[in-house]
Amino acid sequence: MKHFKKFVLMLGAITLLSAVNVYGNETINIVPVPVSVITNNGNFSLSARTQMLCNFQGKDADNITGALLSHIKKFYGIEGLKLGFSEKPVKNSIFLSLNPKADIKKEGYKLTVEKNHVILEASAPNGLFYGIQSLIQMMPAIEERQSEIKIQAAVINDYPRFEWRGLHLDVCRHFMPKAFVLKYIDYMSMHKFNTLHFHLTEDQGWRIEIKKYPRLTTVGSMRKETIVGRGNAPVKLYDGIPHGGFYTQEDIKEIVEYAAKRYVTVVPEIEMPGHALAALVAYPELGCTGGPYEVATKWGVFKDVMCAGKENTYNFLQDVIDEVLALFPSQYIHIGGDECPKDSWKVCPLCQQKIKDLGLKNEHELQSYLIQRMEKYINSKGRKIIGWDEILEGGLAPNAAVMSWRGEAGGIEAAKQHHYVVMTPGSHCYLDHYQADPASQPQAIGGFTTLEKIYNYEPVPSVLSAEEAKYIMGAQGNVWTEWMPSPSHVEYMVYPRAAALAEVVWSPKEERDYAGFKERMRSQILRYNAYGINYCRIEFQ
Ligand SMILES: [Zn+2]
Repeated sequence: MKHFKKFVLMLGAITLLSAVNVYGNETINIVPVPVSVITNNGNFSLSARTQMLCNFQGKDADNITGALLSHIKKFYGIEGLKLGFSEKPVKNSIFLSLNPKADIKKEGYKLTVEKNHVILEASAPNGLFYGIQSLIQMMPAIEERQSEIKIQAAVINDYPRFEWRGLHLDVCRHFMPKAFVLKYIDYMSMHKFNTLHFHLTEDQGWRIEIKKYPRLTTVGSMRKETIVGRGNAPVKLYDGIPHGGFYTQEDIKEIVEYAAKRYVTVVPEIEMPGHALAALVAYPELGCTGGPYEVATKWGVFKDVMCAGKENTYNFLQDVIDEVLALFPSQYIHIGGDECPKDSWKVCPLCQQKIKDLGLKNEHELQSYLIQRMEKYINSKGRKIIGWDEILEGGLAPNAAVMSWRGEAGGIEAAKQHHYVVMTPGSHCYLDHYQADPASQPQAIGGFTTLEKIYNYEPVPSVLSAEEAKYIMGAQGNVWTEWMPSPSHVEYMVYPRAAALAEVVWSPKEERDYAGFKERMRSQILRYNAYGINYCRIEFQ
């Protein structure tokens, strides 16, 4: 077996060399694999003399041409390309055609590389942006300064399978600096992800400035220390080091704008009514007991949650949502709704009174009431809510979308009720799980989700009818950071597994093939090296 492995590794190495050196860029290695690629004879030569022409002007033209220009400057040292407006391509040009009437699917593009020019056409700017990402992946992947980039002649027709292609980032268990969040968005966009689920509030820290409630960040963003290891020693150990951090509203605006330029929508998550210790520390009157509370220093689920019996809680949540809506233009606002123990509600006179007054059956219905009331509020502002699958318990809010994380059952149930669904089952989509033999890996939360396992994930459960399947908006990789204290550790857990997920959510089901993916990834890995992404190398040694 060992020898066999060595043989496979050798084969891998030979293929790697051949893909780069012998065949040059005749092989087209795009991840996620496009709907259709036809290669032709010849090359287009991109150099400083190439013109970049667009048949449109404005912000989108700047974003899209900027993505290509900054890449070739950074990695090939080519700059000074002439930019301009044109109705048609000229010799030695890259011509971007935005044509709303073109017969090209949503977010899709058609890329034609010929000896004389490159034509990239789409019906919307995001399609052009994705076409540029593919064009970048058709360039030689090795970082080197050169005066000319050869690009294989080809025709690519491409569009995504799903509209929600998400990655999540928990910045609460460990705060991640703004600069890293921007990098995270860059790496997402190169894999054609379009949704960043930004998990901003938690028991262990509140990370977004809310002007009306300054204590959320002055007090709630800081925990006094963090548990060490699994905490299963007879006496729990803590590091004694305060941990904190938050994004000002200016930071958030910058992140949202940066993402928008890369056609990534940032969906904020404001947890309610559970996972709210940090908020309770800042404003103890929001809890059932009134405290005292402490920003959590260990992981897990905590019994202290927001009091659903007090009108004050609803006012607070609406005020927070008002400021959140002003910062995030996303259609969906994530309201959490998960892991909310009902212990404090069961003994809280105000919660019990609320249950009586509203004629509710139990505490689950009280949670459902809170979520539905918040949904009504958010709907009244022209937005929609999405929540973890616990929001199904006690009755789903009328327009809510569901993120199915405890397996697929919640997603299936929601789709059957004709609610939109994002699949994020722990079994396949949790990037905090081990990706290889735990003995060889840094401490992770548990689980076992290899590159191949995530690659083979199918977001549409076979039990759904064709009609119900339409409610599956897509899938998302979740990145909980209990065991990821630093940005480089996040990168290690996310890549290359996010590349596998990118193919799950973008590529046609029938085009997916793990061996082919791994082969194509060899070029992408070289790009990871050039970008300095701290990916896990275990599958690519
Ligand atoms: Zn209460």
